[in-house]
Amino acid sequence: MEEIRFCPTHGFFRGERCECGAEGEVVISEDRAMRLGRFISGALRHFPDRLRLKMDRHGWVELDELIRAVRRKYRWASKWHVLALIRSDVKGRYELSDNRIRARYGHSVDVDLDFPECQQETLYYGTSEEEADRLVEIGIKPVRQTYVHLSTTLEKSTEVARLRTERPIILEVDVKRAVEKGVRIVQATEDICLSEEIPPECIKKVIKI
Ligand SMILES: [Zn+2]
Repeated sequence: MEEIRFCPTHGFFRGERCECGAEGEVVISEDRAMRLGRFISGALRHFPDRLRLKMDRHGWVELDELIRAVRRKYRWASKWHVLALIRSDVKGRYELSDNRIRARYGHSVDVDLDFPECQQETLYYGTSEEEADRLVEIGIKPVRQTYVHLSTTLEKSTEVARLRTERPIILEVDVKRAVEKGVRIVQATEDICLSEEIPPECIKKVIKI
């Protein structure tokens, strides 16, 4: 996580300079941004109940309620800081609408994410060599998360897999076949689709990177 700054022309950004070259002013230090980011993603993905946040079945929480929960833990934080964190997020982790907020992916709580259906023919799942054999046999199941997270490009899935292994294996998922089998696959961000369990016969190719 980098520090979060504010450019008067382009708004919040992460890092030392805005895309326009302006330095802007520091809104949140690197250290605080990391802690605030962890807290907000935890609140919206994993433990809303522990913070007494009311979450609807699509994962939405009132923004003001989230801000109150943040302030109980971090006295220095205001709405400005929370918005800075959310709006500077380049991975599209959060969705803001009508003063409500939700995480777009990464949930371990049970939510029904009503995003549009995925329109791609192929999606990608990066894994390790050890894991790949097992997945080809039993299919791809959500482990710690509510949904299986699939990448929209081979490059993205490789990037994700590289966080866990030096020798990524990429599984190609046949979306059409999965949908025919009744699997619901939705598009959460430009890079990520969320899916229910992928049956083994919907894995059409195994790619060694
Ligand atoms: Zn700028």
